[in-house]
Amino acid sequence: MAGGLSARMPRFADPDGRVDIKSLSFDELTADLVALGSQKFRALQVWKWLWQKKVRDFADMTNVSKEWRAKLAEHFVIYELTPVGVLTSVDGTRKFLWHTREGQQIESVLIPEIVDPEEGGGRLTLCVSTQVGCAMACTFCLTGDLGLKRHLKPSEIINQPVQIARILPEGERITNVVMMGMGEPLHNYDNLVAALRVYLDEHGLGLSHRRVTVSTVGLVPAMRKLTEELPVNLAVSLNASTEEQRLKVMPITKKWSMAELLQTCRDLPVHHHKRITFEYVMMAGFNDSIEDAARIVKLMRGIRSKVNLIPYNENPSRDIRRPGQEVAKAFQHHLVTRGVQCSIRATRGKDISAACGQLGKADPSTVAIFGPAVLPNPALADGALPVD
Ligand code: SF4
Repeated sequence: MAGGLSARMPRFADPDGRVDIKSLSFDELTADLVALGSQKFRALQVWKWLWQKKVRDFADMTNVSKEWRAKLAEHFVIYELTPVGVLTSVDGTRKFLWHTREGQQIESVLIPEIVDPEEGGGRLTLCVSTQVGCAMACTFCLTGDLGLKRHLKPSEIINQPVQIARILPEGERITNVVMMGMGEPLHNYDNLVAALRVYLDEHGLGLSHRRVTVSTVGLVPAMRKLTEELPVNLAVSLNASTEEQRLKVMPITKKWSMAELLQTCRDLPVHHHKRITFEYVMMAGFNDSIEDAARIVKLMRGIRSKVNLIPYNENPSRDIRRPGQEVAKAFQHHLVTRGVQCSIRATRGKDISAACGQLGKADPSTVAIFGPAVLPNPALADGALPVD
């Protein structure tokens, strides 16, 4: 590797030895710069250029001396995802397609949500991918069909909001981030946590922990570790009301049973302002009966929870049907009237395969090229969103 940084083996570097600077923690960056002969203050300067000003080139770091800009370029690389295209749904949802350096495709989905139509304000939530493909093989999910190709590096996880923020039209800002795109976030634990630290850092992306959610199928030890390390929100993909049922759709249940998963949720030191979200993909005739709802009420006992019902997004490669709206409402009513917080998630981006469980199969030849013309969000401009 490049001379001067030999004290620490970087986890991510180019074949020429230049270090992927966006995959470094602040402490690692400081150590590397000090090893190259810098004073410590320069690390914060560089850090702010990377995350707050979102520069793509060391030459743009104008308050860093010319000599140090050259030194940075010699030892580090500013890694970016290659934008492939963006698909815009009739409901304003936008799906961004990216290529990694090796040409592997990943996707991020930007979902507008009007919280208060009178004020016109709303959330703009980015659903971020953490892996290329996924190893968890949930039977209802198209991403699972791909298998796991590789974990994303911290820089690739952070670049999704950073590169989208750079091209959003004026007045639009990502307000929430959910790690619910391609992959099981906790299967890529170290890189996820490194990325989350930048998301939450006041000199990084500066997001509040209340606005960052990590979703998991229930990797029990990693859930415990994450809760101890970072105060982010947790969403657990439950999708069943019995062990047998869950085993049929989520193979991870073989490793950690639903009983163990739920006991872990009871024991987690969840902050008193927070609740664990339980995602429940409703599949007609499988897990959508009132008996299922009654069992969910019991399962939620002792957990500060809210249940998010997601009527299945039908697609040609699965013989799974979506329950009717009345079935979903009856299920929700059963939970709510028994004291369980519960909402039905409106399906977003279905026409562009950006809905839950549909990521990873977009054909780049069918999408528009990134550019301002395709970015303005018609739904936000109109102040109303169609929901189904
Ligand atoms: S639902 Fe999530 S964890 Fe399961 S296969 Fe799909 S991407 Fe992986």
